[in-house]
Amino acid sequence: MSEIREVVIIGSGPAGYTAALYTARAQMRPLLFGSSIFVGGSLTTTTEVENFPGFPGGVDGPVLMENMRAQAEKFGAEMTDDDIVEVDLTGDIKLLTDSAGTVHRAKTVIIATGSGYRKLGLPKEDDLSGRGVSWCATCDGFFFRDRDIVVVGGDTAMEEATFLTRFAKSVTVVHRRSTLRASKVMQERAFADDKISFAFDSEIAEIKETNGMLGGVVLRDVFTGATRDLDVTGLFIAIGHDPRTELFKGQLDLDGEGYISVASPTTRTSLPGVFAAGDVVDHTYRQAITAAGTGAAAALDAERYLAARN
Ligand code: FAD
Repeated sequence: MSEIREVVIIGSGPAGYTAALYTARAQMRPLLFGSSIFVGGSLTTTTEVENFPGFPGGVDGPVLMENMRAQAEKFGAEMTDDDIVEVDLTGDIKLLTDSAGTVHRAKTVIIATGSGYRKLGLPKEDDLSGRGVSWCATCDGFFFRDRDIVVVGGDTAMEEATFLTRFAKSVTVVHRRSTLRASKVMQERAFADDKISFAFDSEIAEIKETNGMLGGVVLRDVFTGATRDLDVTGLFIAIGHDPRTELFKGQLDLDGEGYISVASPTTRTSLPGVFAAGDVVDHTYRQAITAAGTGAAAALDAERYLAARN
């Protein structure tokens, strides 16, 4: 039988690593499972991060994540580049099974499994991430000053497009239907904006590359199949997110979109001793700093839960 841990953390993004740092410094000897294929979380798929405080010159996403990991390890956090494939969180002692079938036992669990941006599924989409293709206007809008941009999606795309007009020369919103469901106020604002134009009944058919950067897109009319080139150097994909909560279905309360429900402003989930932080909870802010912030909160919540139990 494995020892009973004070805390096991699932996820190696800013939320998981920050929870590891805090619980390690609180002498809780955390064990973190950080995934077998995606160690370091979403920021490892980007280059320059300019909005994480403490780095006036910006910081490379993978470097930021390696630093977070090293800082937690310095205080004794144990890291395992493996997946948790099954959980039983209902008992007093939580059971977590890794990919080798080993069952780990813990008094508390911090879930920080993040969420994935939905993709168009087109060739070159991943290769050009951070090279003209983005999923986050808040993160990357600043890099697109005075450029022609296309935004694909529905209501969120409208919000992203309006935000991007602060930087861009022009923004084209590509939408599969002939109307938008976005609020009337939002639509009127977008329609009145000289920088925004719309390509309704359209989808992105192809992503083009020029010298390793986005070199434009091809639009396709969903009814006629007719295609046309759009000369842009920025593509923002705003077609939704999928929280990584498959493991927890049936055990934890999830909201209508599948995110873990917590007793805000705490990180307590519907089960005692189980806490959740970062993008697996948050569909509003989705930033590295907010994920790190709630990771710290989850560590403090877990620490207090154990203190009250002992
Ligand atoms: P994540 O970073 O998604 O990490 C979750 C981790 O948990 C992943 O590694 C995942 O594989 C792992 N995991 C999931 N399930 C399991 C399991 N069962 N077992 C083990 N491990 C598991 N934010 C900014 O603030 N500034 C930016 O400039 C910025 N740029 C971005 C650029 C890109 C391309 C992307 C995709 C995101 C960007 N973001 C940016 C958003 C930011 O990356 C996220 O908000 C943040 O990483 C969320 O942190 P998290 O810890 O909640 O989850």
